Amino acid sequence: MIAYLNGDFLPVEKITISPDDRGFQFADGLYEAMRAYGGVLFRADEHLDRLAYGARQLQFARHDFTTVKSIFVELLRRNSLENKDALIYMQVTRGVAERTHAFPPADTPLTIYIRVKFFSGWPDELQNGIKVISVPDKRWSQCHLKTTGLLANILAHQQARESGAAEAIFIRDGFITEGSHSNVFVVKDKKLITPPLSDYLLAGITRQAVLEIASGLKIDVREVAIPASDLEDADEVFITGTTVEITPVVHVNGKNVRHGRPGELTIQLQKEFNLLK
Ligand code: PMP
Repeated sequence: MIAYLNGDFLPVEKITISPDDRGFQFADGLYEAMRAYGGVLFRADEHLDRLAYGARQLQFARHDFTTVKSIFVELLRRNSLENKDALIYMQVTRGVAERTHAFPPADTPLTIYIRVKFFSGWPDELQNGIKVISVPDKRWSQCHLKTTGLLANILAHQQARESGAAEAIFIRDGFITEGSHSNVFVVKDKKLITPPLSDYLLAGITRQAVLEIASGLKIDVREVAIPASDLEDADEVFITGTTVEITPVVHVNGKNVRHGRPGELTIQLQKEFNLLK
C-alpha cells in the first residue's frame, strides 16, 4: 500500500512520523475520511471545506486544501484502486516542534498524511440494521471540529461493541447529539428529525446529503433537539456517516425499534442515496 506524507508517496511501512509531532503529543490535528465509489470521489469538496473550516478554527498555518484532491486521485491510481470502492483517510497536524503548549513558529510545516484502502462498507448491516446503546456524552464542547482527539468516542464505541451493539449514541443533558462516528436521525409520525447543528456535533457530509434527498422528496424534515427517550419511542431510527452511509437502527438499549426491522422511510432514503454514489 502506497501512502502520502508531506509531498512523498511511499510504501506505508516505510513512513515514519516524529515523536515530536503535535498530533502524537497533543492530538493537535484534524482528519477526514471519505469514500470513492468505483474510483469516483464522493463529495470530496465538502470534506475538504470542512477540513479548511477546522484549520481556520484551530489557527493552523494553512487553510486551503483544495489541491489535495489530486493527491487522492494519484493515491488511488498508485494502489490500483482507480475503479474500485475505497476509503481515503487524511490527517493534518500542526507539525513537528519541541513539546510546549504554545503554538510552534508560524513557518512550521503542517504534517499531512493520506492513505487509501479498498473498502466496500458493511452490506449486512445496511440491509438488516444494527443494535445501538446510548451513553453519556463525555466529550468536550467543540465536537463540530473533526479533531483526532477521539478518546471519548473510542471508549463509547468499545462499550457498545462489548455489549453486542454496533454503535454508541451520545446523550448530552437529556438530548441526542450524535453517534461515536455517525449522525443520528429518527422518524416519528412521518417526520424526519435530526438534531440541529451546534458545537456538540459534527456537520456530517452524509447528514447533509440525507437532508437534501429528503427535501427533494418533500419529506417533512425537522432539525430540532431530540430527547433521549425518542430513541426508544421512534417509528424508525438510523445513523449516517461516510463509512456507515445510511444504516438502519433496529434495536436500542436492548429493545426493538418498532418491529425490529429497518423502517420504510429509511429504506427509501437508502435507495435515493445509492443513486447519488
Ligand atoms: N459524527 C462523528 C463524531 C463522526 O466521526 C462522523 C464520521 N465522520 C460523523 C458524525 C458523520 O460524518 P460524515 O457523514 O461526514 O462522515
